[in-house]
Amino acid sequence: MTRVADKTMRTNVRAAVRTERPSAQNRLLASLPRNEYERLLDSLEPVQLSYGEVLNQPGEEMQHVYFPNDCLVSLLTVVEGHQALEVGLVGREGMVGSCVALGVVRSSVRALVQGSGTALRMKSTRFVRELQRTPALQRAVLQFTDSLMGQVTRTAACNRFHVIEARLARWLLMTRERLPSAQFRLTQEFLADMLGVRRVGVTSAAGALQRRKLIHYRRGVITILDQRGLEAACCSCYAHVQLAELDAAG
Ligand SMILES: [Zn+2]
Repeated sequence: MTRVADKTMRTNVRAAVRTERPSAQNRLLASLPRNEYERLLDSLEPVQLSYGEVLNQPGEEMQHVYFPNDCLVSLLTVVEGHQALEVGLVGREGMVGSCVALGVVRSSVRALVQGSGTALRMKSTRFVRELQRTPALQRAVLQFTDSLMGQVTRTAACNRFHVIEARLARWLLMTRERLPSAQFRLTQEFLADMLGVRRVGVTSAAGALQRRKLIHYRRGVITILDQRGLEAACCSCYAHVQLAELDAAG
């Protein structure tokens, strides 16, 4: 397994490039009544997040919560300080730091940006206040937290019972539905960390999917060629974690 801790960048997100104005590409925020969303805009700061950035480390206080627009954040559990395994994936359907709503102050996972893009962030202290005065936000956050817990528990079972090729297919589909493109950057090393397997296992599984013409994989860039075929190749877990409510990604 993994070397994520050594390989990831620790970056100062405050230095991020600002987008012109916040938008509600994030589905959790977009689900709020318009007046509530507009009121929240004052406390939301647009940030640009880059591949490899770490938003939270285990044990650290979560200074901000993040609502991804078109970026993708991987939640990793870290074992013995260096080995990491992905337990959750968050994109525009949700948020990073939803456990703040449950009164949790310190992160239990490493939140790692896996796909570059924009997000809106809010100070955690402000988020707690806004939850108290905005029941619609509270409902949306708790609903998302429940679905994330479902994803985490399913992932635990998947890692134990399903073969790498099927897990890779599921993981690619989950990534695809959270990103605006069928082509995304992924090194084999990163994939090995995500799936908790050795690199050679990823090479073999990706090669098998490529021979079946379901994906194209070259120089760390994966292109999904056959969405339906990939769905047929993945394990049953995908049906349990699929984001049916999201628009078809463009
Ligand atoms: Zn599975």
